[in-house]
Order: sequence, then structure tokens, then C-alpha cells
Amino acid sequence: MSTSLHPMHAANASRILVVDDERTNREILARLLQRNGYQTESVGSAEAALERLKEQSFDVVLLDVVMPEMDGFECLRRIRRSLSVSELPVIMITAEADRDRIIAAFRDGANDYVTKPIDRDVTLARIATHAQLRQTMRALRDSEERYALAARGSNDGLWDWNVQTGDVYYSPRWKSMLGLQDTELERSSKPWIDRVHPDDHVRFCRTVSAEQDQSLTHLDCELRMLHQDGSYRWMLCRGVYVRNAQGQVYRMAGSLTDITEGKVGDALTGLPNRLLFVDRLERTIERARRLRQGRFAVLFLDLDNFKLINDSFGHQAGDRLLVEIARRLEQSIRSVDCISRCECNNTVARHAGDEFTILLESLNSPEDADVVADRILQAFAVPVNLDSVKLFPTFSIGLAVGDQNTVCAEDLMREADTAMYYAKSEGRNRRRKFEHGMQQRATERLALEHDLRRALQAQEFVLHYQPIVQLDNLLVTGFESLVRWQHPIKGLISPMAFIGAAEEMGLIVPLGWWIVENACQQAALWQAQFPDRSNATVNINCSVTQLYEPEFVKKFHEIIIRTGVVPHGICIEVTESTLMDRPDAIRPILCGLRDLGVQISIDDFGTGYSSLAYLHRFPLDSLKIDQSFVNTLHDSQENSEIVRTIINLAHRLGLHVVAEGVETERQWTTLSEFGATHAQGFLFSPPVGASYASKFLLDCLGSGLFSSPLRSVTERSAAEILPMRIAEGRSATSIR
Ligand code: C2E
Ligand code: MG
Ligand code: MG
Repeated sequence: MSTSLHPMHAANASRILVVDDERTNREILARLLQRNGYQTESVGSAEAALERLKEQSFDVVLLDVVMPEMDGFECLRRIRRSLSVSELPVIMITAEADRDRIIAAFRDGANDYVTKPIDRDVTLARIATHAQLRQTMRALRDSEERYALAARGSNDGLWDWNVQTGDVYYSPRWKSMLGLQDTELERSSKPWIDRVHPDDHVRFCRTVSAEQDQSLTHLDCELRMLHQDGSYRWMLCRGVYVRNAQGQVYRMAGSLTDITEGKVGDALTGLPNRLLFVDRLERTIERARRLRQGRFAVLFLDLDNFKLINDSFGHQAGDRLLVEIARRLEQSIRSVDCISRCECNNTVARHAGDEFTILLESLNSPEDADVVADRILQAFAVPVNLDSVKLFPTFSIGLAVGDQNTVCAEDLMREADTAMYYAKSEGRNRRRKFEHGMQQRATERLALEHDLRRALQAQEFVLHYQPIVQLDNLLVTGFESLVRWQHPIKGLISPMAFIGAAEEMGLIVPLGWWIVENACQQAALWQAQFPDRSNATVNINCSVTQLYEPEFVKKFHEIIIRTGVVPHGICIEVTESTLMDRPDAIRPILCGLRDLGVQISIDDFGTGYSSLAYLHRFPLDSLKIDQSFVNTLHDSQENSEIVRTIINLAHRLGLHVVAEGVETERQWTTLSEFGATHAQGFLFSPPVGASYASKFLLDCLGSGLFSSPLRSVTERSAAEILPMRIAEGRSATSIR
């Protein structure tokens, strides 16, 4: 017996109907077939067979020729009245090789014959062939029906690819989807493959190659195809593989659907998306190159502070804002069409998130792009109403101008993006045009970002502590914690060099939590070591991004619990601009902190132009006069008047005043006269490491420099003792 046929039979489980009037014959055949994995049924007469076939579908009929009542030939003729040769294979069983009868049987629609006595291998081989064929035909018919149905109900194009002959049928709709006439296409795979986008070529060819994994029954791939108008359209190609007995694909058939809309449109704003934008830009570049002329520009727009809007008003409100922005951008582009030579060819697209791109085609001069950017900035001078809140969204815009020498879309987009970065870092709500040299700095910036991420993982940050001194007795009443980056190659790096970048990258949040955790730990340690100095505070700078983190207060509370710090010994420094940018949003956060028992200080005061009268709305404990005022204290009468006024008003609000950046005795004296209660500055000590800072607390308790501050100040001149302290402080840190 041929065993090679076994597995396939078993897998296919074809149903065979055995028709024979002799019971032993039926039983032998049925058992043989069952052992080879077929499902069988046997009947003893032609009439019974016809009845059965009405009720049930079979894959093959084994039909005995000689039977009483109705013989096999008559039965065959009746079967063929309703079922064709391809619909139901019938194999005749003849007693001997009777040539004439066999020919007659074929004429009446038999598919094959076997002779008695049964040769098992020959019989099995013939049944296998017909059963397999029948299965294939059925699969094909099913899929054809399915696709015919699908095609009728949809806009899809159909295709049918005979892998053996290379013949490919394309339906009229398939052709029209690509802008082709019905008659235009040669019946081979060439016109199809030639139209596939180069980037999708390999993937597509792999999908339609005959050497597919045998387990695959369906094909499914997305690809770009060239339309007659020169554009690429996104297509979804789906179909079935039809295989022969050996499992090789000999035919593929399926549908083609145009999915360009979904692919290139931004679902939220309806604007073209990045893909389509890049495609249009590429065509613009190509045209300029071909015509050897033409100037165009890419504007890269990034919405300023979008995260804040999302966080405080919710994502749905953020979405609505984006939709409104898209509408305004389109309007402002339409209104500038006049300055562009070819009308309405400018494109506004949503690049990603809160980033938009604009393509200005055919500019008269590079300056036209600046004009457009300015008009866009102006278009947002009118507020956007969001849930009865008026918002003034602003943009940072980067511009890059291209011409016939522009190499590719990607380059120009990167230049515009780089310029946008500059606009953003220069204070937002402005435009910058790309210049060479920016790239270099952008590369450095990228390297910094990369390095910062690594540093956070490697825990390369340290906190230094700068004493805050009470001016009347020089007692150290607390410290400001100031972060430094202990870089393995570059050494100690100032926060000025990385806080801004960390802020823009969002890294300030994890870094900020690291700072809070460590500063609280240190404060808890000091509280345990110096119980008599329980009033001393550790000040922590908190960036605006971190403050608006969801559940900021809750997380802060968790750290307080975890570290066991007494909350009153912690003071959060919030810059004046953080307070004044969105007073209503920041107030509840500060109140939450205050409820925890934490103190709050307004940092860099004087730089944010806020009205002092406004301050009473916030739960504040102290105010830090920015060092720029202290530096210039003696430059003019006016400057010193400003400082005096700030101090007076702060007192009226019940706030302590800390003067920052005190470097000279003269500043110290004047500030004391004006009524400042506290100061911080190199005159007293630079920021130092934690263990060095401990000494300031120690000394106040016992012997040492700060043992009797009042006495030491009165008995020895400050000029004598202070430089000494500065020198010592400096030696403890390598940063200054
Ligand atoms: P800031 O909060 O206003 O901190 C005071 C800055 O003034 C510190 O600079 C301090 O070293 C410096 N300074 C103190 N005394 C003098 C002085 O007599 N003369 C001069 N010229 N400078 C003095 P630093 O440590 O470089 O920090 C700069 C800024 O970086 C800080 O300004 C703060 O805005 C930010 N920063 C520092 N550490 C952190 C932090 O842990 N978290 C956050 N979010 N920002 C931080
Ligand atoms: Mg500060
Ligand atoms: Mg400050």
C-alpha cells in the first residue's frame, strides 16, 4: 500500500460514498478507505445512492457498474443531471477491463474507473487525486463566491493570478482605481509589480511568491501603488492562496482596496498627515529639480505648552483645541495664497501630537515664508474659547527654504524642526529660520538629551546645599538644595546647563522626583541628628512641569511618609513665573502642599513682573529676591528703591524675605537696613556637599565658626571672618 498518501488523506478527511450491491465488497472498500483517513458511507443500491446524494454532499462516489434494478451507468446519468464532473467526481468500479464499457462510462460523465478485483494502491491513488481536486475546486468556489459577494458590495478591484501560466486577470475596477482604462493592461504580473512603490517592492514580492509557508491560506498586505496621475495610492491587497496536492501555490485570487484616505488623513483634524505631507514635499522637490527652478518652504510648528493644557483641561479639550488650531492654520494659509505664485497649492498637515507642518510652494522670495509665519502668529492673537475659558495658544515656528538643490524631504523637514527648536528655546511664540550651524548645535543638544537619559539611569546626580542665613544673627536657618550632574568625563555640571533640556524632554519629572526624595531624606537625617535645629528647612526647587504632574501632592505626601521627614522642615521654591502664568491652576496645588505642612517660597522674585498685591492669594511663607536685584542694588537709587519696596510689601503680607546672591558686605548691610530677614550668597557660603553642610548645623550647636554668630559679628568685623567661610565652602565644591 502506498503510505505516502496517508497524511494528506487524513488531513483532508474527504467524504466518500461507496455504492455496491455486494456487502463484502462494500465492507472491504469502506475499511480500506477509513484506514486511510477518509470518512465513508456505503449503500447497497443505486436508488439508495441517489437518495443519499440529495441529502448530503460527498467528495467522491465509488460506483459499482453491475447492480440489480438500476445499474451504475443509469445511476451515473442521473447524478450528472444535477451535479457536474467538477462538482462530484464519480469513479466507476467495473468487473474487468471492459474497454467499451469504460469508454461509455466516460461519455456519461465518469471521472475515472477501477477494476475488480480491487488493486488497493491504484484505487487509493485514484481516489486521492479526485478527492484533492474536488477540495481545491470547492475552496476556489467558496472564495470566488465570497469575493464576488464582497466585490459587489464594495468598491474593491479584483484580481486572479495563475501562478503556473503567469496570467493575471484584473477587474475593470482594479484598473480604474489606478486611473487606467479597462483595456490598457497586459495580462501578466508585470504591470502590477512595476507600479509598486520601491519601498514596498520586497515585501510585496515576498507576499505573492509561490514559495509561501504551507500553513498560509490567506494573503494580506498594505502597499503603495503608482496611479496614472503620478501619485502613489495606499492599497490593501487581500486574497487566498490555492495549493495543489503538494501544497504548492498555483493560483492566487483576491481584492485590492484603496485605503489612501485613512492612511494620509489625520482622523482628528481632517488635515493631511505626515505621510501625505512628505509625499507632497517630495513631489515639490522633484519638480524644482526637473525644472531647475522654484523655491518653496517648510514651516514646522510646535504648539507651546500643549501638555499643560491637556493636563489641566483634559484630553478632550486638548483635542478640540487642536481642531480649532487646524482650522485657523488652514484659514491663514488661504489668506496668504496671494503671495504664493501658484494658488492653493500650500498644504497644512498635522505632523504628530501638537506639531503641524506647512508646505509653501512656489515662493517669490525666501522672505515670503517669514511673512506667512508672522501671519500665523498673528492669527492666534484672537483667543480660542474652550469651555468658557479663553486660551491664547502660541507657536514656536521653524522655517526652512528649499530649491532645486534640495536633496530630499527628510533634510528639509529636519532643518525646519531644528529651527523650531531654536524658536522654542528663545522664548516661544516666535519664528526662526534655519541657518547652517544650527544643525551642529542641534546635534550637540541631541547628544545632551541622550546623555541625560543615561545619567538618570546611572544616578549621576548629586545635591549640594547652600546655607540660608538669618541676617541679624548669622544663624543658618536652612539650606537650598541645588542639583549638580556628576558627569563621569566632564566632571561636575551646573544645573544651568541641563535643567532647561531636562524640562523640554520631560525628564525633569523623574529627575525632580529623585531630587525631592533625596532632599527629604537628607532633611530627615538632619532632623534626627540635630533635634535642636528642627526649625531649619531644606528648600527644594520644583519645576513647573513637575508641579502640574497628575497627583503631585499625593506623590509628595508619599515621599514625606517614606522618608519620615517632618513636613515643616521642607520648603518648596516655586518661581514667580510659575505662579503668575496660571495662578488659578497653581493655587490648589500649593494649597495641597500647605495642607501637608510644607512651606512655600516664591523664587526669583522680581523677574516675573507680578503685582505684589496678587501674592496674598497664595499660601506663601517667604519670598526670595532675585539675585539680579541684589547685584545691581548699588548701581542706582532706583534699583535700591525697588528692593526696599519689595521688602516692605513682603513684610506687610507677613512673608520672610530672603535676598539671593549676596556677594558683598555692602549688599549685606544695605539689605539688613532695608529689613530683609534672610540672605543666601557666596558671601556666606556657596552650595556645598551634604556632609560639609552638616557642619553649619553642628557649629551652631557647639564650638566653631557659627557658635555665637552675634558675638562673632560684633567682636570681629565681618570682613575678617566671612572670606574665610567662603574659601572653606568653595573648597568643598568644584563647581565654582
Ligand atoms: P535658583 O533656584 O535661583 O538658585 C540659586 C542659584 O544662585 C544657584 O545656582 C546658586 O548656586 C546661585 N548662587 C547662590 N549664591 C550666589 C552668589 O552669591 N552669586 C551668584 N552669582 N550666584 C549665586 P545654581 O546652583 O547654578 O542653580 C541655578 C538654577 O538652576 C537655580 O536657580 C534653579 O532655578 C535651578 N536649579 C538648581 N537646582 C535645581 C533643582 O534641584 N531643581 C530644579 N527644578 N531646578 C534647580
Ligand atoms: Mg531656588
Ligand atoms: Mg532663585
